[in-house]
Amino acid sequence: MDQYYLLGSPVAHSLSPAMMHAAFSALGIDAAYGLIDTNMLPLKEAVARLRSEAKGWNVTMPDKNSMALLCDELSTASMIGGSVNTVLSRDGRLIGHTTDGTGLIDALARSGVSIRGGVMTLLGTGGAASAILIQCALDGASEIHVFANRPASKARVLAIKEKLSPHTETAIAVHGYEDPEELKAALAKSRVLVQATNVGMEGTAQEGSCLIPDPSFLPRDLFVYDIIYHPEETPLLEMARRAGCRTENGRSMLLMQGAASFRIWTGRDMPVELVYEKVFS
Ligand code: NAP
Repeated sequence: MDQYYLLGSPVAHSLSPAMMHAAFSALGIDAAYGLIDTNMLPLKEAVARLRSEAKGWNVTMPDKNSMALLCDELSTASMIGGSVNTVLSRDGRLIGHTTDGTGLIDALARSGVSIRGGVMTLLGTGGAASAILIQCALDGASEIHVFANRPASKARVLAIKEKLSPHTETAIAVHGYEDPEELKAALAKSRVLVQATNVGMEGTAQEGSCLIPDPSFLPRDLFVYDIIYHPEETPLLEMARRAGCRTENGRSMLLMQGAASFRIWTGRDMPVELVYEKVFS
């Protein structure tokens, strides 16, 4: 039986085991997907054990950056972002990938939206936002307008922009939130808005909040994607729906980043609609 794992902490409530087991079972693949809490077994020790034992693993917070340092080879996106969420162990050689950005792009494609040649506004500069920025630039967005919360976050994006420059023609502009007109102007020319901050997340101090001041910022033809999926409809998605925009929450990104890991490990396409039905319905 092939062994796969999720490493990180906490991992107990992850939906990944349900997603992977549904896919293995649907395709008749003899495999199991387990959880390793790196608070109990530190990342380095876990990796030493899994190197020969497992075919691959996912990595979640807080270990994505540390995992990148333990790999023998990295995908371009992982190298630029210094982050790994999917490891393929090929004869003990560890190849690191990041599928969060691919997950977002595939989730948009599932809704019939392509980022290639289009303008995008991206809210956030953290782990998920960086992965999205990198992959959207590698996949040929024409312009990406990134909105950063703090000067240190702006600097982080500028460092990524520098590393991306040999790999892409995408124009990347970094803004703050101080002047709402900058946000309005970026949204007016964007095909897609991706919300990749914690703002609006259930169970946090930011629950009920929204970074878009009012519906006049949201043109009707803008596709609005919020990578948060608790709650199902964030205040941003509610505002966007009322403004007449098409919207989607982060469930599909979660699904599609898992599907991308699954493809890296097995070479097969995850039956995503069946898995979505089983895990989210
Ligand atoms: P992270 O690395 O901690 O980044 C959080 C980001 O939110 C930072 O850019 C932070 O900016 C920004 N932020 C926080 N409060 C803000 C505010 N009041 N105004 C403006 N920006 C603010 O977290 P992450 O891993 O990227 O995750 C972000 C969210 O995405 C979480 O809710 C997570 O659950 C969700 N997520 C979803 C998926 C999926 O598959 N759907 C995958 C990964 C993450 P500063 O650092 O400058 O304050």
